[in-house]
Amino acid sequence: MTVEHLLPWRKAAKDAVAELWSDGTLRQVRAQTPSLDRLLHFDNAGASPAPTPVFTRMVEHLELEREIGGYAAARAADEEITSLYTSIATLIGADAAEIAFTENATRAWDMVFHGIAFRPGDRILTSRAEYASSYLSFMRLARKSGVTVEIVPDGPDGAVDVDCLRARLDGRVRLVNLCHAPTSNGLRNDALAVGEALRGHSALYFLDACQSIGQIDIDVRRIGCHALSATGRKFLRGPRGTGFLYLRADVLEQFEPPFIDIRSADWIARDRYAFRRDCRRFETWDSCVAGRLGLKAAIDYALTLGLPRIEQRVRALAGQLRAVLQRINGVRVRDRGRLRTGIVTFVVDGWDALQLRAALQREKVVLGAIELADARLDLEPDGGVSVMRAAVHYFNTTEEIERFGRLLAACAHSR
Ligand SMILES: *Cc1c(COP(=O)(O)O)cnc(C)c1O
Repeated sequence: MTVEHLLPWRKAAKDAVAELWSDGTLRQVRAQTPSLDRLLHFDNAGASPAPTPVFTRMVEHLELEREIGGYAAARAADEEITSLYTSIATLIGADAAEIAFTENATRAWDMVFHGIAFRPGDRILTSRAEYASSYLSFMRLARKSGVTVEIVPDGPDGAVDVDCLRARLDGRVRLVNLCHAPTSNGLRNDALAVGEALRGHSALYFLDACQSIGQIDIDVRRIGCHALSATGRKFLRGPRGTGFLYLRADVLEQFEPPFIDIRSADWIARDRYAFRRDCRRFETWDSCVAGRLGLKAAIDYALTLGLPRIEQRVRALAGQLRAVLQRINGVRVRDRGRLRTGIVTFVVDGWDALQLRAALQREKVVLGAIELADARLDLEPDGGVSVMRAAVHYFNTTEEIERFGRLLAACAHSR
């Protein structure tokens, strides 16, 4: 199979991306991810490799902790630690007081969700894109408290049907949980349209931005969500064990954290305490300071490159990858949606996803596999089999995608 055959790749689109990303910028970001010389990194929806400035900042801080102790090291980095909130706020168009740092996105989401005083008869609206951990929380809540959980159906394009969602709204809907981009599909739900549908409605609009943050330009004011949770290690290229929560200032104090500690509250008299008034009421006192600094470095790195520019390149590369895969016999691309992300999911005839992931790892390709228990709502209607996930980032290249296409074609034809 020739490269031309694998590449029905429109020249105009290619030129538009080249214009936004000069050879110099691309060379620099690749040089700052040294393993790209040895590996195809296509697991950016799982854990993306951190660029050098992120890695170095963390190592420097760990060395300082070893030298002078963690507390003195934190005091030395005090201003930078605090400026993390400003960096996150800048990334999503919020205020620093609306941001909490968390050890992952799940905990950010939990802290708000488990603080909601649900009553029997309350309704939660979700979609087929829902993240497994959130859905597990919904199931448990439904079992315990008589709250109903409804999966709003997909529209014709396979993303959540916003008209249908609007039609289901009433005074009992307490929470609309929207997974912006699912872990198991290349679709992107229309967060702006959902925000419009919910305007003026009393339900809490919670946006799970784990797979969109770092690859899509997100503006919480434009979207109109009340809350957002995100993770550091995926498209943001930050450290593992980092995440954050955004909760809009005007609703913040309505949400009492399910836990209390010396970070989230002040012990103001022998028999009195008061929760912090900013979003840090959802934090706990200790945290990985190197992780905080690494996350800040990762966000600043993304902001310097520019989110619109990142988004454009990721979209173009993912489009190219889908086109390449669609040309290979025995490969089925299963991404839905009018709007798409850098995540490309597919199945290969005769291959179990975990086995194929292992085979490709031997060929120095790092990518993901999604199993049924990770995404039942999405995978069950599609046959229930595990699927492959190749998620490209701005540092990937057309040449890498061609190489991947050839490797995958060889695997597909061997069965
Ligand atoms: C990864 C992911 C999460 C959970 O993020 P953690 O940081 O692992 O807690 C939530 N939602 C979606 C859509 C994800 O992809």
